[in-house]
Amino acid sequence: MRSAAERSKQLRNAVLVSAISLIPAGIAAAILCLCLKLAPALVILISALIFVIALAVLLILWKKTDLIRSILYYLYKVRHPEGSRKYFCPCCNRSLSGFADMRYYDDTERFDPARFKKQRQDVICPFCYSAPRQRILACWAEKNTDLLRRSEILYFAPEYSMMKWFRRNKIKVTTADLYDKRADLKLDITKIDLPDESYDMVIANHVLEHVSSYEAALSELRRILKPDGTMIVSFPIDPDLDTVKEQETGNAEERIRLFGQNDHVRVFGKDSEDIISSSGFSVSIIDVSDTPDPYLPVTGPADYDSNNIFICRRTET
Ligand SMILES: [Zn+2]
Repeated sequence: MRSAAERSKQLRNAVLVSAISLIPAGIAAAILCLCLKLAPALVILISALIFVIALAVLLILWKKTDLIRSILYYLYKVRHPEGSRKYFCPCCNRSLSGFADMRYYDDTERFDPARFKKQRQDVICPFCYSAPRQRILACWAEKNTDLLRRSEILYFAPEYSMMKWFRRNKIKVTTADLYDKRADLKLDITKIDLPDESYDMVIANHVLEHVSSYEAALSELRRILKPDGTMIVSFPIDPDLDTVKEQETGNAEERIRLFGQNDHVRVFGKDSEDIISSSGFSVSIIDVSDTPDPYLPVTGPADYDSNNIFICRRTET
């Protein structure tokens, strides 16, 4: 469900696009009236037509977000000369003068601001919206392209920034989501409608904190993996918790208070690695100590974003 903040942002965008479309219609009306001295009815008709065409063109461009972002990045490079671009986003392959503060703490309908207070907030790529965890994964992916190229990959809740990386590296992935219609497959991760041993690799970043049963999800992910297949997962971890904290509640405010976000139903704790291994995996965590400095910082933006990414190998029991 969209929050009021998202709805208001969409409304602002719609008003902005409509207002911009009025500009060419207004100019056309002025020319038709002043220069060509056409009849008022004809001027209104032609101006309305130009408004509709301008609106359609803008809406098509709006959908082509990659194109718009490339144009914006070109302008960004003009304003930020190469020497000042000391940061780098490995997801969208762009050098940056800094990461952005997305002001999540202002969106109190979705987040608990207290969870962001003590964390550094300028951690989001302004072009592909990668957070530290996606940049850590992209950095790992750069070193494991051979494995990725020879794997059949199923990606749950695909993230735009990582999809940029996969597309740029020409690695095919099948995407899955229960709600997003753009995904290749509509799948419930707790009851995956696929045969056993279907994929070489599954990816599910920040999914397990949203679903009804993380145990069922882990069991299903293991089931659809081929023997020795790889699962990549990450989820919010509260470093102060010994184990997972979860509670079913239909109240969004309660979920924000308990877990920091309106659609989280749990937060994991220190025993996350044990939880995954007991589901039939051997587990390693991506070592961020060799992540290049320009990709940093590696924590945040919330205090439960420790950004541990688990690379798990299916083991046979
Ligand atoms: Zn980026």
